[in-house]
Amino acid sequence: MYSRFTALTDFEEKDLEKLRNCKVAVVGLGATGSVIAEHLARHGINLLILDRDYLEENDVYSSNIYTPEDCQDSIPKAVAAEKYLEKFTGIDSRVASLNPENVDLLDGTDLIIDGTDNLETRFLINEFSKKEEIPWIYTAAIGEKGYSMFFKEKCFNCVFDDINAGSLETCEVAGVLRESSTAAASITSTKAVKHLTGQTVEETLDTVEGDSFQVVSSGCDVCRDGSYSRLGSSRKTVAVCGENKYQLDTDIGAEGREKIREQGKVLSDNEYVLRSNINGKEISVFSSGRIIVEANDKGHAESFVSETIGV
Ligand SMILES: [Zn+2]
Repeated sequence: MYSRFTALTDFEEKDLEKLRNCKVAVVGLGATGSVIAEHLARHGINLLILDRDYLEENDVYSSNIYTPEDCQDSIPKAVAAEKYLEKFTGIDSRVASLNPENVDLLDGTDLIIDGTDNLETRFLINEFSKKEEIPWIYTAAIGEKGYSMFFKEKCFNCVFDDINAGSLETCEVAGVLRESSTAAASITSTKAVKHLTGQTVEETLDTVEGDSFQVVSSGCDVCRDGSYSRLGSSRKTVAVCGENKYQLDTDIGAEGREKIREQGKVLSDNEYVLRSNINGKEISVFSSGRIIVEANDKGHAESFVSETIGV
C-alpha cells in the first residue's frame, strides 16, 4: 500500500513503522483539519480528532472527505470524519470543542495539529504544548492565502499575542479558496510526517505561495515564565435556561462589536448592550464582554461567534 512512499529518497520502511506507532491530535475538522486528517490517516498514523460543529452545505466545497448526504443530515464533523478515516487507521473521535476543561485529552499524543480557524483555541494549544512539551503545527487559510508553522522551541503567544482576535477576518466573511486551504493542509501534513519520522522541521511561517518567513519568538509569560493563564481559565459556554440561547464568557473588543453592527440588523445599541440579528439569529454583547447568542446547542453557539467575529 505504501510503495510510493518508501520509494522516496528521504523515507524507508522503518519510517512507516514509526508513523504507525504515533498518535496525532487534529483539532478542528473543517477546510484545513479534515484534509490534514485524511493525509495523516493515509500514512497509517493513529488519530485523535475533535470538532464541536455539525456539517453544513459549505463543507462539501471546502473538504475532501465529506459528502453532500453527510451535510444534508447535519452529522457532526467528527462523526462523519471518523466514518471515512477509519478505513485507513485507528481513529478516536470526539464531538467537542477544545477548552481548558478537556485539553488533557491531548495528553500522550506525539503532535498536535491546529485545524481550528480560531485564535483563542490556538493560544490554548500553545500553552498546552509548552507545558507538556508536545510540538504542534499552526495552519490557517483565508481568502486565497494559506499558512503553516511548526512550533517546538518557538512560541505562538510571542508571535500573535498583540493581535486582537476581533480584528481578524474570518472565513465566514472573507471566504476561502479550497485550493488555498488544501495547499496549507498539505504543507502542514508534510511537516507532520517529517517530524514524526525524525527529520528536522524548520520553525518558519510558510505560505502556500512558497514564501518562508523567520519569526521572532523573544520570550513571554507563557514560554519564559511558564504562566499558563488560558489553561487555568474557566472560560465556558453555558446554556441560558429554556430559551435556545447560550452565554459565552469572552471579550470581543471594539472591532468585534463593529463586526456585529456591520453584519447584522442592529436591534439596540447602548452603553449596556449591543443586540443584533445576524442571519436570523440574535446576538447580544454586554459591556462586560459577556455574549448571549441564539443557537440550538453549545457547538453552534461557539461556531456562530467564531465565524462572525473571529474569536
Ligand atoms: Zn512566548
